Amino acid sequence: MAETMVEAPAVKTSFVDEVCSVPGGEAIRSCIQCGMCTGSCPTANNWDYQPRRVIAMVRAGFREELLSSNSMWFCASCYTCTVRCPRDIKPADIMHALEVLAVRSGLSTKQSRTPVMYQCFVDSARGNGRVYELGMMIKLFLKTNPFAAIKLAPVGLGLFLHGRLPLRPTRIKGMKELKAIMDKAKKLGGAK
Ligand code: SF4
Ligand code: SF4
Repeated sequence: MAETMVEAPAVKTSFVDEVCSVPGGEAIRSCIQCGMCTGSCPTANNWDYQPRRVIAMVRAGFREELLSSNSMWFCASCYTCTVRCPRDIKPADIMHALEVLAVRSGLSTKQSRTPVMYQCFVDSARGNGRVYELGMMIKLFLKTNPFAAIKLAPVGLGLFLHGRLPLRPTRIKGMKELKAIMDKAKKLGGAK
C-alpha cells in the first residue's frame, strides 16, 4: 500500500534568527543592554525606538513594530556604536540588516523618504553603473512629495551652474560585470 506523505509543519523562524541570518546581524544575541550604542548615537533622538531598544525588540520578537518603525532608517552609518560596543556587536550593521528585512517584508515606514531614496539610488546605479543624480532626485520626488522639489530647486540650480549636476546620465564600461556583482549581492542578502 502506498504510504501517504504527511507534510511536516512549517517551522516558524524567530525574529532574532531572521536577523542573525542577514549579513551583519549575527552577533545580536550577545548584547548586554548596556546602552552604549544609544548614548553614542548622534541621531537617536529622532528614532521611534533607540538603538539599545531596537536590539532588545529584535530579541523579544517585536518584528512588525520594529520593521515598520522609522528607527533604522535614521542610522547615519557613523559607526560610533560599533567602535564602542563592549561586546563587539556591530549595531550599525544590524540597522542595515533591519532595513533589508523591512524592504523585503514590505513593512518599510512611509514616514521616511529614506527607503524610497535607497531604491532610487540602486536603480540608478543598476541602470548606468554610477548614480545619475538628476534622474534619481526626479524619481525620488515623484514617488514621495513632488512639491518638496520646489524647495530644493535653488540648490539644484547652483549645482548645475557649477557643473556639478549633469543633465544627461553617463554609463560606465563593464555594465555586464557590474550587473553580475549586483546580482550576487542580492543573492547574498541584499534587498534589491
Ligand atoms: S553597546 Fe553593544 S552591548 Fe551595549 S546595548 Fe548596544 S549593542 Fe548591546
Ligand atoms: S552607526 Fe547608526 S546606530 Fe550607530 S551611532 Fe552611528 S547613527 Fe547611531
